[in-house]
Amino acid sequence: MTDLISRTPGALADAERWTAHNYHPLPVVVAGAEGAWVTDVDGKRYLDFLAGYSALNFGHRHPALIAAAHAQLDRLTLTSRAFVHDQFASFCQGLAELCGKDLVLPMNTGAEAVETGIKVARKWGYQVKGVPQDQAEIVVAANNFHGRTTTIISFSTDPEARNDFGPYTPGFTIIPYGDPAALESAIGPNTVAVLLEPIQGEAGVLVPPPGYFTTVRELCTASNVLLIADEIQSGLGRTGKTFAIDHEHVTPDMYLLGKALGGGIVPVSAVAADRAVLGVLRPGEHGSTFGGNPLACAVGAEVVKLLQTGGFQQRSAELGAHLHARLGALIGHGVLEVRGRGLWAGVDIDPALMTGRQAVERLADRGILAKDTHGSTIRLAPPLVITADEIDHAVSQLEAVLR
Ligand SMILES: *Cc1c(COP(=O)(O)O)cnc(C)c1O
Repeated sequence: MTDLISRTPGALADAERWTAHNYHPLPVVVAGAEGAWVTDVDGKRYLDFLAGYSALNFGHRHPALIAAAHAQLDRLTLTSRAFVHDQFASFCQGLAELCGKDLVLPMNTGAEAVETGIKVARKWGYQVKGVPQDQAEIVVAANNFHGRTTTIISFSTDPEARNDFGPYTPGFTIIPYGDPAALESAIGPNTVAVLLEPIQGEAGVLVPPPGYFTTVRELCTASNVLLIADEIQSGLGRTGKTFAIDHEHVTPDMYLLGKALGGGIVPVSAVAADRAVLGVLRPGEHGSTFGGNPLACAVGAEVVKLLQTGGFQQRSAELGAHLHARLGALIGHGVLEVRGRGLWAGVDIDPALMTGRQAVERLADRGILAKDTHGSTIRLAPPLVITADEIDHAVSQLEAVLR
């Protein structure tokens, strides 16, 4: 009779009592997970349609990733970058080759990868492009999400992310997303980089108009400006290709990676770029105590291996087409619009029916975990190990919620 008394309310109250309220979680207390499924403290099972904002692209506790982590835990976990360790080069080589770049700089969180990209672009601007000291400008898009540091929120357009956290870091120009003419007029002689998400996730899974990145690439090349692709959420198989920008047949100068790179086990992020760019950093100029640690590299190397075969990318493309076909059928039945690529969808719920928050609460009651964003949009991003039947089940639950 263990299920007479739910453990959920007590666990939620404890979390509320002892933590800063910088999140508004769904009332689900997770205790275990495997693949695409999570189990709460009461033994209720849910299909995970958020996948840790793409940090769990390979599902919860992927056997190869867990095995790599276990093996590394038994050998060596941390050295700091004061020494080299035996997992370092192979992870960085594998990732560099996956990206088609010369070099990799490993960090931990996504925000650190973005900060690294900003610092490298500025230094490149002063040392290579010849921009006058402290005049470097970086162009970013409205409704961006690149993380939570003081510099990154300085160029956020989301009042929640930004308000009361000033003074703000200067040196950023904000333009509308998907508008090449706006980019052309924003680029000036001191512009060192354009920093963009190939698909804007947090903004509601906004896919830019066809050809946008081709023009962005041309403008950057013509003006000697670095194109930095923040693939932290969109990359590593999520959209049906290794990187979302691959859909545009465009190669950025810098890839920013994170989330799924840590296999859902440890925070691992990285910047990948050619020597002409990343080579501007000299010893002592940038770093992180935990960046590129042995455990992170062992897991990250296994993540790279999972992506080398292309199997996950193909799965995401095929099952993504299925997901989008099923979701498309809901348009006019409580859904206004569906956007996205691969196993990634932003679904605009008719606000006359309910808010996005209400929709994800009702989905959770029905055993589907998803997350709302910006009022009436819900984001679906299941682990790439999800099956077609599980997708069908989740979409039927959404259909029932909207009925
Ligand atoms: C999550 C995310 C980040 C920040 O990553 P953290 O690990 O949370 O610091 C940056 N850019 C994009 C596009 C993201 O989705």
